Amino acid sequence: MPTIISHPIVASLKTWVPRISVHAAFAGGLLAVLPDADVVSFAMGIPYESTFGHRGFTHSIVFALATSSLATLAFRRDRRALFAYFFFCALSHPLLDALTNGGLGIAFFSPFSNRRYFFPWTPITVSPIGAGFFSARGVETFISELKWVWLPCALLALMGKTFSSRAT
Ligand SMILES: [Zn+2]
Repeated sequence: MPTIISHPIVASLKTWVPRISVHAAFAGGLLAVLPDADVVSFAMGIPYESTFGHRGFTHSIVFALATSSLATLAFRRDRRALFAYFFFCALSHPLLDALTNGGLGIAFFSPFSNRRYFFPWTPITVSPIGAGFFSARGVETFISELKWVWLPCALLALMGKTFSSRAT
């Protein structure tokens, strides 16, 4: 999926935990996009299917745990809530990728296993990699993401806002 645009939108679910600051939400957005830093592997000649190829180790549960732990250390207060929020943001990336209809699957259990997984239901149109993002297929992908990522996130964020304002 077009990472820089759609993955960080999950950080908007901070509405469920009102004490999450804007800074923390920004960090959550970065964590949600970080796994796709592995696209440099294509330029480096690392095969897609290898552990350090695209959708490999950086899309694993271990990587999400490591990055969310490091991000939590950067904050002083509410670390338990922050860790849960950061881990949710980080893990949302491979989970959403596993709902896409193309490419190789996700190495959730890397580095222990490099087996790639998709969910049985893959409604999200996979993003073209690189310049293809600005093609007609890129537009099709974005429309798919509006429907399957932005809309559910917006509704859930709104629900979070409603519930948390009632709770206070
Ligand atoms: Zn990805």
